[in-house]
This record gives sequence, C-alpha cells and structure tokens, in this order.
Amino acid sequence: MKVTVYAGSALGNKPVFEREARKFAAELARSGCEIVYGGGGVGLMGAVADAAMEAGGKVTGVIPQSLVHAEIAHQGLTELHVVETMHERKQLMADLGDCFVALPGGVGTVEEIVEVWAWLVLGHHDKPITLLNVDGYWDRLLGAARRMAANGFLRPEELDGFLSVHDAGHLLQVCRSWKAPLPRWPATPTAPVVAARDARAGDLAG
Ligand code: AMP
Repeated sequence: MKVTVYAGSALGNKPVFEREARKFAAELARSGCEIVYGGGGVGLMGAVADAAMEAGGKVTGVIPQSLVHAEIAHQGLTELHVVETMHERKQLMADLGDCFVALPGGVGTVEEIVEVWAWLVLGHHDKPITLLNVDGYWDRLLGAARRMAANGFLRPEELDGFLSVHDAGHLLQVCRSWKAPLPRWPATPTAPVVAARDARAGDLAG
C-alpha cells in the first residue's frame, strides 16, 4: 500500500513531533508500506523520509521545481518527481497514494489534507483521509469538522471520513475497515470515482 504523507516543512518546537513522525514512518516502512510525500529534506517532511528509508522502506517524493532549493529536495529517495507547479504536486501526490495522512504541520499541510478531504466529499476519489494526532495537535481541526457537521454543513458520513489515528498500526486498521461516503452529488463525468465504480458494476453485470 502507498501512503501519502503530508507534514510540516518545519520541525515544530516540541521534540515529540519529530520523535513521533520518525516512529510513524519507520513503522509504516516495516509494515511494507511505501511512502509518497512532498520530496523535501527539511522539517518533519525530511524526518519522515529519512526514517522510512533507514527502516528499509520505499519513499517517493513529489516536489515543484521552484522549491527544489528552498525545501532542499531530498537526494536519497527511491524516486523523486520534479513537477512544474504546486497544483501538479498535489495532484500527483493524491493520485499515487492509496490513503492520506497529515502529520503536524502548518498551512501547507492543512491545505493539502483538507483539499483531499474535499475531493473525497465530491467523489473525486474514495481513499481514506486521516490525521496523526500527535500530542492533540489536530484536536481543533477535528473540532472544526464536528462543528461543520453539527451545523448542517457536513453529512455525518463525511465527518466519519476525516479520522484521527494514533500510530501506523491504527492507520492500517482504519484503511482495512474503510468505507468511503457516497459522493454528495449525483454521478457526473467530473466524479471519476463514480465513473470507475459504475464501470466495475457494469463489468460484474456483464
Ligand atoms: P507547511 O505545513 O506550511 O510547512 O508546508 C508543508 C508542505 O506543504 C511544504 O512542502 C510546502 O511547500 C507545501 N505547500 C504549501 N502550500 C502548498 C500548496 N498550495 N500546494 C502544494 N503544496 C503546498
């Protein structure tokens, strides 16, 4: 399984962030999971890549040309895709992963995990969205999601698609029991997951 990991380009100011990020990445690698991430060598992103590689895992980075120097593109990865734009980066990271997890991070990390969650709600994919809630870091974001549901802006099953996990084993367990919410809108050509589901149903019927 390929796990797309979003994480801060900084280390944060508590040792627990780097410690838990490394532990999580090493556990994933030892479980046979491959990691897809933003390709940088700095911050928690770099720590994740280093720990997974040290544990014998495969790591694929996806970085835009403009950030190769700023984020010091990691040179020791299994594979590094250098793309043109931030949008291409996010699309490729989303396409390559079988599930998504956000480790602690800043606006970049939040933007990335919320975007794939929005794509899930719209039926553009049907993959699990999770948050590694180190030291309660994501409590407020999870609370904001609950408030959206309580106020009628999110269906309960969409809230269930945004999940807190406490370690790599828990992430794999969540993925095994994952059932994607039905897309909010009827199937359209812009909802690829719906089209793929319909095609599979057609194959089975035929
Ligand atoms: P941050 O959590 O802000 O430290 O950012 C984590 C990662 O997200 C870094 O690799 C940033 O380059 C990346 N990032 C920030 N904004 C975007 C964006 N709009 N699209 C894709 N990646 C982004």
